[in-house]
Amino acid sequence: MAEKDFYQILGVARSASEEEIKKAYRKLARKYHPDMNPGNKQMEERFKEISAAYSVLSDAEKRRQYDLGGSERFQGFGGQGSDPFSAYTRSGAGAGGPRDFQGFRFDFGDAGGAGFGLGDIFQEVFSGRTGSGPFRRRNPQGEDLEYSLELGLEEAASGVTTKINLAREVSCPACLGSGGQGNKPCPQCGGMGRVNQPENIQVRIPAGVDEGSRVRVPGKGNEGSNGGPPGDLFLSIRMRPHPRFDRQGKDIRLEVPISLSEAVFGAKIEVPTVEGSVKMTIPPGTSSGQQFRLRGYGMPETKKGSRGDQLVRVKIVLPAKLDEKSRELIREFERLNPYDPRKEN
Ligand SMILES: [Zn+2]
Repeated sequence: MAEKDFYQILGVARSASEEEIKKAYRKLARKYHPDMNPGNKQMEERFKEISAAYSVLSDAEKRRQYDLGGSERFQGFGGQGSDPFSAYTRSGAGAGGPRDFQGFRFDFGDAGGAGFGLGDIFQEVFSGRTGSGPFRRRNPQGEDLEYSLELGLEEAASGVTTKINLAREVSCPACLGSGGQGNKPCPQCGGMGRVNQPENIQVRIPAGVDEGSRVRVPGKGNEGSNGGPPGDLFLSIRMRPHPRFDRQGKDIRLEVPISLSEAVFGAKIEVPTVEGSVKMTIPPGTSSGQQFRLRGYGMPETKKGSRGDQLVRVKIVLPAKLDEKSRELIREFERLNPYDPRKEN
């Protein structure tokens, strides 16, 4: 493939002024921008050529060298499978990745999925156009992060503020996120502009979360590059199994053992709840398996402000051993109360 001339690519004369070059680039960039031609590889390649040409011709020093015939320096450009940006990557060859062109990154959405950097060319050409028109400059937002957080039922019931340890990418303190130091890649971040930093983050979990709930902590994802906004942190809630409580949505089920005499005569017993223990009345003549409802002692519902109930199922537990006198009393009881509990009345 014959090497193309940067002036030809932009359609300007070799004597073109800075302003003319910029104008030509702007016109072409609008036409070939991947945002305008989603999925069109040819247009995207053309756009890369245009941008590469502009990156040289808009820089007085690079243009001078180019004019002096130092085009070898810019070779590789236009060739099949070559990266037109590699020659101009300030933050170091080999760093790869879309972020290494002058520490800037542009996200072109689905346009080839590549997302290549153009940096200050765009900033310059499209300044003043922020938020309007197709060239709205998008500072690359930091990635969202996921963190799996295990909670006990009581914590989920009351809500909890806790601290988690998490490594997130933050702007590199050595190069202030630019990825470069002078003409070299920043040694601290390897030209990435961001470094991994462990952090202690305080998070507040609202009352009522359940297994699989996601709690968003705004702005605590990775920091963006080039001053882009940070991503969010998402806490993925896992519930630690409780030894006694069985949560079912907003209700909590619990089995409570009672004695034979409590079942027969009734009693006030202490029952644990997620809010501590409460008194519950067992009416006389209670059978095993009977269920009582402690209204409002279940789980709060995250958004509604209402609460579920605790459902208490009682289970009559007999002593492991009955002495002969007790057995005789039960026989006596049976004689006085002949009944078949498996018969419908
Ligand atoms: Zn750095």
